[in-house]
Amino acid sequence: MIRLGWRRGAAAASTLVLLIGTSGVGPGGPAARADTGGSDQVTGSGGTSSQVSVAWSAGLVGKDNQTVVAPRDPNSPESFMSDDFKNLKVTVSQTQNLAHQAVTVNWTGGKPTGVVRNAGGVAFVAAKIPLPEGEQWIANVRKFVAGLNAMGITAWYDAGGRGISEKHYAAYQTLAERGELNARAFWTTIRQPATPEQVGKVLAEIQQHRPFQGNDYFENIGWGESIYQPATTNLLRNDFVVKPEDMREVRRIMQAIAESGMFLNAHVEMENAIEAYLGELEELNKVEPIKGLRWVLSHLDQVSDAQLARMKRLGMYAGLHSRPLIQGALMHKVHGERAWDMPPFKRVQDSGIVWGLGSDATAVTTSNPFYTLWFAVTGRMVGSRKVNRQTISREQALIAHTRSNAFFVFQESNLGSIQPGKYADLVVLDRDYFTAPAQQIKDIKPLMTMVGGKIVYRAR
Ligand SMILES: [Zn+2]
Repeated sequence: MIRLGWRRGAAAASTLVLLIGTSGVGPGGPAARADTGGSDQVTGSGGTSSQVSVAWSAGLVGKDNQTVVAPRDPNSPESFMSDDFKNLKVTVSQTQNLAHQAVTVNWTGGKPTGVVRNAGGVAFVAAKIPLPEGEQWIANVRKFVAGLNAMGITAWYDAGGRGISEKHYAAYQTLAERGELNARAFWTTIRQPATPEQVGKVLAEIQQHRPFQGNDYFENIGWGESIYQPATTNLLRNDFVVKPEDMREVRRIMQAIAESGMFLNAHVEMENAIEAYLGELEELNKVEPIKGLRWVLSHLDQVSDAQLARMKRLGMYAGLHSRPLIQGALMHKVHGERAWDMPPFKRVQDSGIVWGLGSDATAVTTSNPFYTLWFAVTGRMVGSRKVNRQTISREQALIAHTRSNAFFVFQESNLGSIQPGKYADLVVLDRDYFTAPAQQIKDIKPLMTMVGGKIVYRAR
């Protein structure tokens, strides 16, 4: 019947569904470009050059010209947040590179209002939130997992994100050791070196890294996802330029991972970037074969038929996400007609490559696997506007989200389908995924979710 996916998914035949999702919980996508023009700079006054107060209305732009905090824009789709963001002033420290450094924010002038944008912005705010301690963190993880169980998720792949490190997984590890983790979390180590010197340190870490030391509930499976910050594409910019010096650093990291025999999931979206990565991968394969290592290119929003054929030759897998579910209209603004084919679910499906469907939650889209499936089947974003014409069948979407995703976390013998010998991870749904009207796929709700034979969620 059905299987798990990697951070996405749910599968359902009649009413039984297994979910596996694949996608990472907080992908470290690069910060998006300011859509406010180039005139916003960090200005204001402060005690030192590293402590500058600025008015919210000015927005904040880092030296790399990527907005961290955007000006309030009443016409923005996010303007529903604006009422809470009047008269805000922030004090920023560590202004050297706002997009990539933690900054200190002090709210004055009333309630914090406005929009914190992009992965850099998320890190910016996250840095202000004290981390919980010990049992509180564990309690938070229990609640988070329970919420995912209620959506029908039994397992996921977590690709990390900006600022995410081993300490953020400690509560999961503790719960897994206690036998109390009610889902399966597989993750890859993320570092985002931004200079050749930083790459040198990462290479040493790679040599020491030992994946697969956990269990079937919690395990590190290798390395990912944005592997060298300057060579990390941003889907909301269509002007990515491949720089040979950056690809040299990508190659150094990939070669070290290959020499360690480790799994790698690499973030790459635009066609020219995919081309550059594939060129490096093919050269690498000549000196250190990667076939058999299950390497993945993820997102692949502009992958071509020829590139898919080259990926297959290298034994690579493809991870696709439902980003336009939320940002479809924005993607059409940025990419024009081409956005209709981003991501190219049908092209990837028809190529025969092993591919997984995921959400890219929690930062990019909703974690709800039924929204992911609905998007892949209908090509519609929230609000029902059609934004993608590369739609696939319900069965294809379900398999990608469950059975295929199990491969990405090295669990195809245990997860992804309901059959003797595999773990009893499954969901019972309130309607039939295969026969319900297509527009209702997103509304499907689990009545019960089971992980390892244990009921972890029951609808009231
Ligand atoms: Zn990514």
